[in-house]
Amino acid sequence: PINYMKLEFSSKSSNEGFARVVAAAFVSQVDPTIEEMADVKTAVSEAVTNAIIHGYEKTSGLVRMECILYSDGVEITVEDDGQGIPDVNLARQPMYTSKPDMERSGMGFTVMESFMDRVEVISEVGKGTKVTMYK
Ligand code: ATP
Ligand code: MG
Repeated sequence: PINYMKLEFSSKSSNEGFARVVAAAFVSQVDPTIEEMADVKTAVSEAVTNAIIHGYEKTSGLVRMECILYSDGVEITVEDDGQGIPDVNLARQPMYTSKPDMERSGMGFTVMESFMDRVEVISEVGKGTKVTMYK
């Protein structure tokens, strides 16, 4: 790897924008195009929002973001120690949301998948969720 960073922050909505800006600033070191930069920001924003509003729906805690820069790409991980996802395959379906009443469209994972090259989700109920995105 060319460079590595890890950031840990409270599960507050205001930190979504903070994490997005940090990821963009870090990734900018490998000279991404404007489009690549926008894609990373959008994907990070979706993953961090999910950790905050779904992972820590009933509690609060810490969200961790890790970025690894390679000569030919970036790897970004967003992880929470929240409630976890009972069925990851279902959660990843376009338009699936567990909060249809709260103006959620259920498109977060679909957005991450379309803006990044690959998205891996590892989750355990009661333990938390780890989303790793590659571009
Ligand atoms: P949108 O992102 O469009 O506002 P959404 O967040 O419901 O809506 P997705 O981001 O695709 O849609 O997530 C789908 C579902 O997966 C969520 O409704 C939630 O049930 C579950 N989920 C996603 N991330 C987490 C997480 N970090 N912890 C627990 N559950 C999660
Ligand atoms: Mg979402």
